[in-house]
Amino acid sequence: MKIYATLCFTVLFFHALAAQKRGPAAVGEIFAAHPSTVFQQHRLHFAQIRPVLTTLCRQYRAQTQREAAAQHYLVIVTLDGFRWQEIFAGADSLLLSDPVYTPDTAIYKDCYWAATPAQRRERLFPFLWTTIAGQGQLYGNRLVGNYVNVANKMWFSYPGYNEMFTGQPDDARIFTNVKLANPNENVLECLNRKQGFGNKVVAFSSWDAFPAILNEKRACMPVFSGNENRTKKTQQATLGYYQQRKAERGKPWPQKECFDALTQAAATEYLRNHHPRIAYIALGDTDEAAHAGHYDRYLDAAREADQWLGELWDFLQNDPTYRNRTTLLLTTDHGRGYETPRQWRRHRAGICGADQIWLAAIGPNTPPLGEIKQPMQLHQQQIASTIAQLVGSTFPARQAEIRAIETIFRKPAEARLITAKH
Ligand SMILES: [Zn+2]
Repeated sequence: MKIYATLCFTVLFFHALAAQKRGPAAVGEIFAAHPSTVFQQHRLHFAQIRPVLTTLCRQYRAQTQREAAAQHYLVIVTLDGFRWQEIFAGADSLLLSDPVYTPDTAIYKDCYWAATPAQRRERLFPFLWTTIAGQGQLYGNRLVGNYVNVANKMWFSYPGYNEMFTGQPDDARIFTNVKLANPNENVLECLNRKQGFGNKVVAFSSWDAFPAILNEKRACMPVFSGNENRTKKTQQATLGYYQQRKAERGKPWPQKECFDALTQAAATEYLRNHHPRIAYIALGDTDEAAHAGHYDRYLDAAREADQWLGELWDFLQNDPTYRNRTTLLLTTDHGRGYETPRQWRRHRAGICGADQIWLAAIGPNTPPLGEIKQPMQLHQQQIASTIAQLVGSTFPARQAEIRAIETIFRKPAEARLITAKH
């Protein structure tokens, strides 16, 4: 009888566990309507232990979720200064047909133009609009009321990356792109100090300001940046690319920034050989092309980033360590102007659109909601705690109202949605 009672208890526990996923009311139903005579006889006892069982179920589920997250990996990629307009609607008709910004207009229309915004965005970002739209989430299409903005008032790179990784703007101290060591703690260094992450957090960037932005010295994590990415191996891997680019476009960006191909190759090689828990890869070609006034190169840089992201995702899904345990998070540091073609080249406080950004994610814990069309307002400062929660940790916001973007890692019914308008 003792064994039978234990068996019943176990069955009841798992019934209650399954019911709890449907809500607290369903747990009650099990106790009220189970047909077993044993349960009928012992209903009083079960009613007494119900709160204990419910707590046990809750703790069991929380523990399972924590364990799953503890084996989770994260790759974050940013496309510097890339606009939401091209992410959601593809190539811009004015910039694409203006020979000032796109000298080979016929060739580029062949590459990137199509009749509808949906077709145009898929030509520019096949990986984003097939794999991520099918299995992940995309935020920031303002045409459907889905807003993502920076909260800082600067609207350029260092303040944007500071907000993204430290969880809060700091306009009083971070108001320039000068390479000053960031006084604010960022989520990557915080995780790098935690058990299970030690020396397993790494960053790669095309722009050489990142060792200062992420405060590499204090963070004790490697930040490979600019021409540091030009190792022997990556040079070999990208030799063909460089010869082609040099022939087509002359010299690369100024000394402070390397071509993204180097950063991508260096990061891929590191992921393959060292399997970091968290890797951040900051691409920069899009912003450099825009400042230089080359809309053709801006589109090419985005298209090449999309192709590399597709290859990266394939690698992650075929690697035994990363497969089914890795989230890919994509975003940008700031937007750009849009009121006139000329304004697209620029971004800073006062240029309309420069505070508007976007966000995308794909991974085993991310519900496949595709393009999010629900009106809502997200901010860049929410990304830091989202990063921590994606890998089963926390990064306490300095302001209580700044919450992680829960729809990225919870089922919609369990996530608290932020619907307030900006
Ligand atoms: Zn810029």
